[in-house]
Amino acid sequence: MVGLWSAALPLLRQQVGERNFSTWIEPIRCASDEEGVRLEVPSRFFQDWITRHFLPTIRDTLTLLAGQPCAVRTVIGGALPPKSRPAAPASSEQRVEAPRGPRIGQLVAHYTFETFVVGPSNEIAYRAMQEVGAAPGRRFNPAVVHGGVGLGKTHLINGLAHEVLRRWPRVRVACLSGESFMNILISSLRQDQMAAFRDRFRQVDLLILDDVQFLAGKERTQEEFFHTFNALYGSGKQIVLTSDKPPSAIAGLEERLRSRFEGGMIADIHPPTAEMRFAIVHAKADRQSIQLPDDVAKLLVDRAGPSVRELEGALTRVAATAAVRGVPITMALAEAALGPYVPMRNTVSVEAVQEAVSQHFGLTVGDLKSHRRGRDVAFPRQVAMYLSRVTAEASFPSIAEKFGGRDHSTVMHAVRVIEGRRATDKKIDQLISVLDGQLRA
Ligand code: ADP
Ligand code: MG
Repeated sequence: MVGLWSAALPLLRQQVGERNFSTWIEPIRCASDEEGVRLEVPSRFFQDWITRHFLPTIRDTLTLLAGQPCAVRTVIGGALPPKSRPAAPASSEQRVEAPRGPRIGQLVAHYTFETFVVGPSNEIAYRAMQEVGAAPGRRFNPAVVHGGVGLGKTHLINGLAHEVLRRWPRVRVACLSGESFMNILISSLRQDQMAAFRDRFRQVDLLILDDVQFLAGKERTQEEFFHTFNALYGSGKQIVLTSDKPPSAIAGLEERLRSRFEGGMIADIHPPTAEMRFAIVHAKADRQSIQLPDDVAKLLVDRAGPSVRELEGALTRVAATAAVRGVPITMALAEAALGPYVPMRNTVSVEAVQEAVSQHFGLTVGDLKSHRRGRDVAFPRQVAMYLSRVTAEASFPSIAEKFGGRDHSTVMHAVRVIEGRRATDKKIDQLISVLDGQLRA
């Protein structure tokens, strides 16, 4: 049972996220008894919280791994206290040896450039981050990386921070999410510590703000960020931002911030092709010494869809199930492990997309493929190209081909346009969701 718990940990980490994991799951100790799994937690408060927020997930995960229903109880005592912040070093000697990290925020140790698989969908963003890492503040300032959820933005900026700290251990790095920035701001405001807040952020040499779209609509936070941005930028410090959409499409972002962001280098990450996902899942398996047969890798790629995060989740599930059952990873085991969690994705063809979109707009497929430019066909065509990429997961060149032999940059442009419009226009967002749902059904 204790083995079961250790096997469940990586799965739980993925399901609850890094921060919840270190706060709520890591401190738990597992003991087994006749009735199932007994989890020892540090306090009553902890127990209540776990019960309310994480117990169903924990139970499902253990059940999945054990291959049979698994009873879980929590008891107070015996557990390690939650990880506290590292204490100040006791002597100067220790201080010298302490590992270098960012001054503000935290890095994920294994999100490095080395573990990042580069391919056509993320090459530009990767190269941009490498350039920044080679000469922070010199070129590409600010640099903005944008792309959908689970496509590697956080991994990439962690890679950048690691790289910079490796080369110049004394460089003062801040690497945090827009949300953390806001939380630090709020607590500084409450404690009347704004002078300290400003000093703290204005002393960094490299500011990396992840998920900047979070600032949308948060005026006070934007205001403060604007001043931080200007102070750093004005003194030649490097700023890197990530966002789930292009800056132009972040609704609720003040114009003056938007224009700052757009004044820099903007690189986007697209969903990886099936080929790249195959390389990624193999790389992840190798790093963890997981024996992953090609047919299972292919199954994971097909099932998990475009998000690398989902792909990793599927791999972890399969690997953990095999480890607990003490069997090698086979197709049969993978099918069983994935069954209840990852819905089977239908393969949607570009032709099906063209059919559905033309019908919706009362056009013919020929209209979509034609080179006519009127608004009545231009928008439906862009929608169809977008769905061909996102729902049918076809490559840019193959979509271009199937839309009357256009240039693939036209398709890339269409995808960007629709991404932007989805972000700003609820109606369009709904329309796309409906069409996407129809196609997948
Ligand atoms: P985002 O911040 O864009 O939502 P993350 O950076 O959190 O995405 O990535 C989700 C997961 O997928 C992470 O575990 C990350 O390591 C992995 N990942 C994404 N892209 C790649 C890649 N190109 N190579 C290796 N791992 C990747
Ligand atoms: Mg992220």
